[in-house]
Amino acid sequence: MIQFSNVTKRFKGGFEALTNVSMHLGVGEMAFLTGPSGAGKSTLLKIISLIEKPTRGQALLNRINLNTISRQRIPYIRRNIGIIFQDHQLLFDRSVFDNVAMPLIIQGYRHQEIAKRTRAALDKVGLLHKEKSMPIALSGGEQQRVGIARAVVHKPMLLLADEPTGNLDPVLSREIMQIFVDFHQVGVSVLVASHDLDLIDELQKPVLTLNRGKMIHNDLDNTEPDFIRSARLEPRVSNYPDLGDW
Ligand code: ADP
Repeated sequence: MIQFSNVTKRFKGGFEALTNVSMHLGVGEMAFLTGPSGAGKSTLLKIISLIEKPTRGQALLNRINLNTISRQRIPYIRRNIGIIFQDHQLLFDRSVFDNVAMPLIIQGYRHQEIAKRTRAALDKVGLLHKEKSMPIALSGGEQQRVGIARAVVHKPMLLLADEPTGNLDPVLSREIMQIFVDFHQVGVSVLVASHDLDLIDELQKPVLTLNRGKMIHNDLDNTEPDFIRSARLEPRVSNYPDLGDW
């Protein structure tokens, strides 16, 4: 799903946020990305989500070379990805329903389809009963769950999360992480950047550790297994059973 080979990212001004990073997250795998603040976690996620480009090395997403992708293709590639940020970036002048529906509206889905998918995604994160609420009326944990519903509403095959529990207490953090585990269990590939080492330990998933831009620990198999190479990567979104009848 994601393959980095010696990826280096140097920002204008010369600062190197990633140095020769190699990793491979297979289709349907889940891993945590950890490391101290400033280690390069967000930069790595931004390269995968086509917000930044590598300076050197090769980054592949579903075997598409992210180094050379044209600007016009970026929105189409991004449709395969659901992105969750620490500050969920909800629109506070829109209802919960409208926030979650937004990616589908942008992609031009029909009204009925939008309503069905949006409610299924809200149901998945336990917030169907809040569809008419405004985000301001929700707790921090609920707002984050709206962010997750919005990220999965278009059934992406890859979920990326950047410190999704950064502002939450341990109980809510566990609930949020469990949502990611649930998606992983139905075949979605998941990469979560997090500082929360206790929770990461508890969940027993592979861990990638960055420090000052270098990958200092990698539980993932860096090679691309033959069976993945030979399987044409169909979106495994048909495996989203928990989201109901899409
Ligand atoms: P993390 O997510 O692990 O906290 P980041 O990837 O956000 O780390 O940042 C890694 C380093 O790169 C930091 O020192 C940060 O200041 C620097 N950095 C991030 N974005 C930019 C940018 N656009 N320009 C210059 N330096 C940046």
